[in-house]
Amino acid sequence: METIQVTLPDGAKREVPRGTTPAQIAKEISPRLAKEALVARTNGDLIDLSRPLDHDTSLAILTAKDPDAVQVFRHSAAHLLAAAVMELYPGVKLGIGPPIDYGFFYEFVRPEPFTPEDLAKIEAKMHELAAKDIPNERKMIPKPEALELYRKSNQEFKCELVEEKAQEPMVSFYTTGKFIDFCRGPHIPSTGRIKAFKLMNVGGAYWKGQEGNPQMQRIYGACFVDQKELDEYLHKLEEAKRRDHRRLGTELDLFSIQDEAGPGLIFWHPKGGIIRKQMEDWLRTELIRHGYDLVFTPHIMRLHLWQISGHTDFYRSSMFGPMEVEKDEYQLKPMNCPGHILIYKSRLRSYRELPVRLAELGTVYRYERSGVLHGLLRVRGFTQDDAHIFCMPDQIEKEIQDCIEFAWEVLRVFGFDRYEVELSAGDPSRPQDYPGTPEEWRHAENALMNTLKRMNVPHKIIPGEGAFYGPKIDVKLVDAIGRPWQLTTVQFDFNLPRRFKLEYVGEDGSRHQPLMVHRALWGSIERFFGVLIEQYAGAFPAWLAPVQASVLPLSEKTIEYARKVTQQLKDAGFRAHLDDRNEKLQAKIRDAQLEKIPYMLIIGGKEAEAGTVAVRHRAKGDLGPRPLEQFIADLQQEIASRAIV
Ligand SMILES: [Zn+2]
Ligand SMILES: [Zn+2]
Repeated sequence: METIQVTLPDGAKREVPRGTTPAQIAKEISPRLAKEALVARTNGDLIDLSRPLDHDTSLAILTAKDPDAVQVFRHSAAHLLAAAVMELYPGVKLGIGPPIDYGFFYEFVRPEPFTPEDLAKIEAKMHELAAKDIPNERKMIPKPEALELYRKSNQEFKCELVEEKAQEPMVSFYTTGKFIDFCRGPHIPSTGRIKAFKLMNVGGAYWKGQEGNPQMQRIYGACFVDQKELDEYLHKLEEAKRRDHRRLGTELDLFSIQDEAGPGLIFWHPKGGIIRKQMEDWLRTELIRHGYDLVFTPHIMRLHLWQISGHTDFYRSSMFGPMEVEKDEYQLKPMNCPGHILIYKSRLRSYRELPVRLAELGTVYRYERSGVLHGLLRVRGFTQDDAHIFCMPDQIEKEIQDCIEFAWEVLRVFGFDRYEVELSAGDPSRPQDYPGTPEEWRHAENALMNTLKRMNVPHKIIPGEGAFYGPKIDVKLVDAIGRPWQLTTVQFDFNLPRRFKLEYVGEDGSRHQPLMVHRALWGSIERFFGVLIEQYAGAFPAWLAPVQASVLPLSEKTIEYARKVTQQLKDAGFRAHLDDRNEKLQAKIRDAQLEKIPYMLIIGGKEAEAGTVAVRHRAKGDLGPRPLEQFIADLQQEIASRAIV
């Protein structure tokens, strides 16, 4: 008997008869592997477990642990969807049906739109077909026969695909019971494993994504190998909806975007405004503590400045158009850097002054297409917590370390304990794309890398992703439901110091060019505020909460005392509110809960007599009565420590 040699991932080699399938080999390895196997990989290609092996090859049996195998599983689920739809609505025309990162879709043409009731019916049919454990079988059909098959069944989109994609005389198809599909595969062996899925929605799309082509109805499904993973995914989706900063921004009256004013422009309402003030106060204090100087620069400056900086060459598509003033052109600023550079350049600097750290809560305007705007996260006008550091080469590592430590402080204070760090380096094969010599790049990249290593910060290195003017470190925080958000960025710049001819007088008495670092911790106040709303689900910690305590008199009789309590809270520096509406206590509590006010102080006859307050916390519930002075001291402590409760 003829044999072939199969090399397994651990290097073990097996002699097997030619024609043995990966499924058979999986069974020999272990019954458990055979049960969990989804698909196989030979010499880099994914193949069906039932495909006979006909030459020496490497072989990996893939289970749900392999992301590629999960995508194959989802692709099979897409076929299951199409099989169910064809059984329920036989006249429907088929488009494409690929896996996507959380599941799959399949697209159809049908005169009537699919309704939610249809989706429920289709989902039930999918479960029915899955339970029958129908095999997914590969069939090779001559191309003319394949075209004929689709012509006869009026599947013109499939005809088009066969015409375009089939290069060989034989075309590969997959069948699932009565359902047949032109498909390269591979697929999982049968439908029985597909249990954890949910049809999510129907979306419109043009055939092949091209405007003017026929409209397809895409049915989207979430799909995982494990029910637990699907449940987690659906839960996360619910949580994301519950935390959506756009909805909470309206409900809590924090901010708005006004159509009359234009898209992507943020109006901070009083309650959002007070939160912003707290955030800014904290940041400004910390900036000064970290040795930054605070500056302010104009919002419009001569276009000429942006020509020197190179923004008109490299950044024009993100800038609002210039405006003419007295025959000169002015530009709304998209970045703060040139402004800070002019301050640095306003006089000759000595090495003794370096590093110079200029910080500004600088409002910039960028032209973003209206289609990509998204609440507070993607806007056209925003305020960066921007800073530029000018220093000597031997100071750079210390400066970078300070930036990273400052970023950690931000994460800690605002209650994030997970983060991801990326170092974006230059592409060494394309030095012509970058300003700065290859040696300078290496020096800069080493400085960034050494700092991260010395600080023991786990990080990913991404070559070729550096900004065009230098390498950078990006910190992404991970929020309460596991989503990463790009915030902090620390970027080297070889470009601007050269373009603006920046100098300092060195110890040797001669002139040198300083290094320049751009850095932002929050990125922008708007974006960070959006992230915070979602992180806290609108329930801001007491130090940030627009109203920290709501005083709720039980009745008319205690209103006088309630008024006194409110005044005392205000005198102590708290943001307190008296709810003196003629409402039942339950209604007042409910409203305070909806507003996510941290503390409710309930004032009844007993409290008025004893000079106490009955304390209720929005999350912990009733905490019982205590003297007002006690409450004030406790809240002061909570606010001073910026506790997150
Ligand atoms: Zn397919
Ligand atoms: Zn900058």
